Amino acid sequence: MGYSMLGERVGGGGGPRSTGNDSPARGPGRLRGGAGPEPGPEPFPTFRSKVNVAKLTLGNRPFKQGDTLTDGMEKRTRNPEPQRTHALDLEPPRLREELSRHFRSRHQPDYRADQVLRWIYESMAVSFQEMTNLPLAEREALDETFHLQELRAARTSRARDGTVKHLWELEDGQLVESVLIPSGSRLTLCISSQAGCAMGCTFCATGWAGFDRQLRAGEIVAQYREASRWARENDYGAVSNVVYMGMGEPLANRKAVFPSLTILNQGFGLGARKITVSTVGVVPGILELARRPEQFELALSLHAPGSPLRRELIPLEKRYPLSEVMDALRTFAEAGGRRITFEYTMIDGVNDALELAPKVAELAGELRAFVNLIPFNPIPYRDWRPSPRPRIQAFRKALEDRGITAMVREPRGRDIEAACGQLRALAETPTG
Ligand code: SAH
Ligand code: SF4
Repeated sequence: MGYSMLGERVGGGGGPRSTGNDSPARGPGRLRGGAGPEPGPEPFPTFRSKVNVAKLTLGNRPFKQGDTLTDGMEKRTRNPEPQRTHALDLEPPRLREELSRHFRSRHQPDYRADQVLRWIYESMAVSFQEMTNLPLAEREALDETFHLQELRAARTSRARDGTVKHLWELEDGQLVESVLIPSGSRLTLCISSQAGCAMGCTFCATGWAGFDRQLRAGEIVAQYREASRWARENDYGAVSNVVYMGMGEPLANRKAVFPSLTILNQGFGLGARKITVSTVGVVPGILELARRPEQFELALSLHAPGSPLRRELIPLEKRYPLSEVMDALRTFAEAGGRRITFEYTMIDGVNDALELAPKVAELAGELRAFVNLIPFNPIPYRDWRPSPRPRIQAFRKALEDRGITAMVREPRGRDIEAACGQLRALAETPTG
């Protein structure tokens, strides 16, 4: 199976879910398509190797390029342009090189590469046809060599409070969400890093629905590009902050997430301190982020100050216990000038006992971390409820009495279920 490109293989034999706590028949984090905690058969046929395209029909007509195949469990689409380079996958210096090479081979001046880069990063162009200061023949040649589209809006929902959720359809039919959250002068965008999630956190709807696939860097970055275009066209202004708090565990997709950070920062010009990566505690990922020279921010989904409660909520705790996560966070903090936020989802009678607050305060105090208390957003898979308001306030006070800055985050976009990873909370955290 080996779906994680970087070894954070938390599903399947040996992963934390294989010893899962209350393993219901439809347990959290299972691979969509049938492969549960135990190693199982391939969940769906590999398109190229096992399906004879020539013989496929859709309804009463033959299968064509671009059609979506549904095998009852998983949608697969034939990649219509395998030979084109996905421009948004490449970090800016690499994209520049590729563009230079392309124009050189066409005996065009090198400044054409910079023209294209400006169109991509400044104008947020989604097609080469938009690049009107390039000759038509060059636009067409670019279109044959590079790919720029990545996704299209399948649905846009706007909440009464201004929150906007986009459902994006990727080229293989997968759907991911991003959420725009206006708040004062800030416009925060919450983006997805994976289609689904393999971590199986028991309080998270994405975790229960399972893992489909990793997103490519271009698919992550395109959420920013498209949402920014939407915001521009609808008088929302420019996106000021990005949080990786949509679907998926960003640090289990480092192969795409790390380049996407570079592209947002160096390409689209978003300050590193305006970008927050949220993790459930993938230690190698935290350490890798600490080694980056840029000051990206980090949010840790804490939810319990220690085992065994944390293990019940977050299966990854078995693989990376909080003590190891804290060591990694110390390294991150020591790398200088980087802010850490703890996210703590408050679930009635599960993790909201007042006696837990001093321990949370101890962990946060050591790292000078902020704490966001988020009322649990109910999910269909469990009958858990959000903690009552007075208990959340008491918990916050207990933290503040110990010198910790803690905020209670009100859900946004309720009427459109804008629970992007169920959390719009960090969107409102003041940033530097
Ligand atoms: N995988 C990453 C980022 C995506 S989840 C992570 O877990 O940090 C984004 C945030 O939403 C996390 O803090 C997660 O704990 C929180 N979350 C998930 N399900 C939730 C729910 N039902 N109610 C409230 N917050 C939830
Ligand atoms: Fe994945 Fe984050 Fe949900 Fe856990 S809380 S299942 S890591 S998206």
